[in-house]
Amino acid sequence: MTQILQTAADQLAVKDLAAGFRGELVVPADPAYDEHRRVWNGSINRHPAIIARCAGVADVIEAVRFARRTGLTAAVRSGGHSFPGLSVCDGGVVIDLSLMNGVRVDLASRTVRAQAGVRLGELDRETQAFGLAVPAGIVTHTGLAGLTLGGGIGWLMRKYGLTVDQLISAEVVTASGDLLRASDRENVDLFWGLRGGGGNFGIVTEFEFSLNPVGPEVLAGPIIWPMEQSAGVLRFYRDWITDVPDDLTTIVVHRMAPPLEVIPSELHGSPIVTVICCYAGSVEDGEKVIRPMREFGSPLLDLCAPKPFVDHQAMFDASFPEGWWYYFRSCNVAALTDPVIDITAERAQQMTSSLTAFPIFQLGGAISRVGDDETAYHGRRAAHTFNINATTAGSDGFDEEREWSRSLWTALSPYHSSVYVNFLMEEGQQRVRDAYGAAKYDRLRLLKQQYDPDNFFRLNQNIAPG
Ligand code: FAD
Repeated sequence: MTQILQTAADQLAVKDLAAGFRGELVVPADPAYDEHRRVWNGSINRHPAIIARCAGVADVIEAVRFARRTGLTAAVRSGGHSFPGLSVCDGGVVIDLSLMNGVRVDLASRTVRAQAGVRLGELDRETQAFGLAVPAGIVTHTGLAGLTLGGGIGWLMRKYGLTVDQLISAEVVTASGDLLRASDRENVDLFWGLRGGGGNFGIVTEFEFSLNPVGPEVLAGPIIWPMEQSAGVLRFYRDWITDVPDDLTTIVVHRMAPPLEVIPSELHGSPIVTVICCYAGSVEDGEKVIRPMREFGSPLLDLCAPKPFVDHQAMFDASFPEGWWYYFRSCNVAALTDPVIDITAERAQQMTSSLTAFPIFQLGGAISRVGDDETAYHGRRAAHTFNINATTAGSDGFDEEREWSRSLWTALSPYHSSVYVNFLMEEGQQRVRDAYGAAKYDRLRLLKQQYDPDNFFRLNQNIAPG
């Protein structure tokens, strides 16, 4: 099965790699192989020839050199949460950074350094100990590296921007095995590209971010109505958010009510629409801002309450566990116009899986105040990101739910503005181009030509060298 074990030269290359490697090398014969080749999306089932679980930068450099020497395809893995499973490959080498998970807060400079294998919950745990945070995503087991390199949207984005908007520097192992530092003073072009351009330019081993005050208590949680009232809820919501402060970020989710203790059992499994809030200012101010939404109609349940920010960050964890089968279609829209609302409300009711949770993120605020050309991330003027997600426990019902996701996405196609690169499946070059816009995509191609002319890093939302 493996390319690596076929020739004597390959055997020698593995021996060479193993000689100095500080981390762990895992091959198909090892008992831990299955555990380490699996990624978050259970519908992905690939068999690499070797998994290089790096313990530090030197291991990453050795793993890159090894892949070049042997001609093996290289996949780079940090959190393993790529929707289409781009961090694992068949027959190649997985350069796995998950063991590199150190986090160090520097209170004097109000910054934090995080290695590439850190998960969002680990970062929050260290920073929230001091009432500080980096704006990042909404599920604690997501990898910081992949999320950051695509932009990074989450509960604090309207107040503090994207994750990349707080990035100060990154250490990068290039396709030639060199270690570079990128910041607004060193390798400035690379720094621009890393802030949205994904894993195209090298392997980031460590990030440095600015920290901002958050909580540690915030007013946050879902307000829930029956899904059949979605059109009315969305219209009220659209008008309400036009002048809410940037302290507030909301996400609308259509789904069946999950069987959680906080939800009365008679609601479990019933279709709901929920507006989930996170107010990152004072709880008193938040109460005033959120009141109109919670007084709209007759919510089935209002779970929006003061709580530790880290608890709120974990609220979606149980809805997106490792191993379920996931499929996504995604788009940004410029506004929640009446047709967008009507299509969404009508089609959401056609989902059939009790595990599907379909979020619509509210953008704007601090994201939109950064100039579009300042980073590779594209879509700063979009108002909402639709993440139309189809989820089942395994293959049963997966095709049908995937069809539902595709058809809702297609129905919305007249209103697509752009797409968030981290929410793409493997959808082809044109979609990657759509994610960056034509001008930015061309600039990214030149950068790729400069840093990775052979397209060594190609298992990603790939930008062809040009
Ligand atoms: P991996 O699968 O490890 O990697 C993803 C891609 O990045 C691959 O192409 C990989 O080669 C490349 N890569 C990984 N590490 C490195 C590195 N160190 N250097 C260079 N390239 C690297 N996104 C948001 O913005 N906000 C959210 O709230 C959010 N929530 C999510 C929740 C879940 C449950 C999931 C599955 C995803 C979510 N995402 C979110 C999307 C997420 O940003 C992407 O899936 C991201 O790629 C995950 O990063 P990772 O390190 O876990 O992924």
